[in-house]
Parts: sequence; structure tokens; C-alpha cells
Amino acid sequence: MRQACETAQRNCERVNLLAVSKTRSAEEVAQAYHLGLKRFGENYAQEACEKVLALSELDIEWHFIGPLQSNKSRMIAEYFGWVHSVDRLKIAKRLDQHCHQLGKVMNCCIQVNIDEEASKSGCHPDEVLALAQACQALPQLNIRGLMAIPLASDDVERQKQSFLRMQSLYKKLQKQLPQLDTLSMGMSADLETAIAHGSTMVRLGTAIFGSRNQ
Ligand SMILES: *Cc1c(COP(=O)(O)O)cnc(C)c1O
Repeated sequence: MRQACETAQRNCERVNLLAVSKTRSAEEVAQAYHLGLKRFGENYAQEACEKVLALSELDIEWHFIGPLQSNKSRMIAEYFGWVHSVDRLKIAKRLDQHCHQLGKVMNCCIQVNIDEEASKSGCHPDEVLALAQACQALPQLNIRGLMAIPLASDDVERQKQSFLRMQSLYKKLQKQLPQLDTLSMGMSADLETAIAHGSTMVRLGTAIFGSRNQ
């Protein structure tokens, strides 16, 4: 990350590391925490909640990064401080209601399906502005920015185009919502490209914990 920031001539302090701990045990998370990591990302609500409870003594900031299902929204509202995958107003309203009951504010990113892939969650790039503004109006949601999972590809140029589109979408949105401070993109295989295109939070699993079996 430091090297990528130097190459991109960016201040390292502007890029945060989210350790993606899906499939990892609570012990592994605790180990990473004691080595200095404080932010952890999880994809599956049930699996995550067990870890959050087991590690409640630690000062961890938990981020939900998986697809959002309505029937899990209460659990997610309760156990997480951030949700990166808000992609429709219906689920945003549910989260807002649950957070109201819990007396908390949820940090949210709008997930964008930047390559318009049929298999992927995220709202269409053209819908981002309207969705962000509608979410902004919900009192318990604090809209922080955008998240994307660009198409995995060996074609570096094509990937750059996806990151570039995210960067310009984020800049455009910031003009409407100047408080935004988070562009969540970049995973183990493409963190350099993401940082070169303005990412403020890279989500790394494999690069930290090694490869997953699932
Ligand atoms: C699994 C996952 C990551 C981490 O991927 P790695 O390639 O292991 O770094 C990041 N973001 C999301 C949304 C994920 O599901």
C-alpha cells in the first residue's frame, strides 16, 4: 500500500486498510488485531455475528461488505458500524429503521455495479446520485461514499477503465454531497490500480491471511 501510494504520489494516510476476515476464525482476527489492524470486513451476516460477539472486548470497527438481504438487515444493523453494500432504497430504509430502534447511526457506502455485470450486486451507475440523495435523507444513515468490485480481469487496461469510471463517479457525487470521504475499492489483486485511481479504502483478504479454500 505504501509503495502504491508513493507511485501514485498520494498521502498514505488517506488510504485505509480494511482486513477482510471472511472464512477466518475469531482467533485469526484477534491475532491480526494484536498486530495492529483495527478494521475488519465480513461478507456473511451469521458468520460475522459470531465473531463480533466472540471479540466484543476488542476495539474493532466491523464493516459489512457482502450482499444485503432484507432478512439479515436487523442483525447487520446491530453488529456492524459500516455497510459498504447498500444498493437499493428498500434495504437502506430497513437499515435506517433498525438503527433507529438501536439508537445508532450507520456509516454507509453505496455499492455500484460499475461493469454492469448480471451476476453482481450494486446499483446501476446512472442510479447512484438519486440513491445517495435518498439515503442521505434517512436520519440514521451516514452516507460516506461509494464501493465497487470491478470485474476481475487479466486485461489491465480494461480494469483501469472501471476504476477510472468509479473515480469520476465519486468526484461527481462529491460535488452534490461534499461530506463524502470514502471510495472503497481495491482487493488483493488490484490494490495498486485502485490506489492510483483514488481509493481511500482497500479491502484485503488474501494479501493478509493467505488464500481461502472456499
Ligand atoms: C472477499 C472480498 C474481498 C477481499 O478479496 P481478496 O482478493 O481476498 O483480497 C474484498 N471485497 C469483497 C467485497 C470481498 O467479498
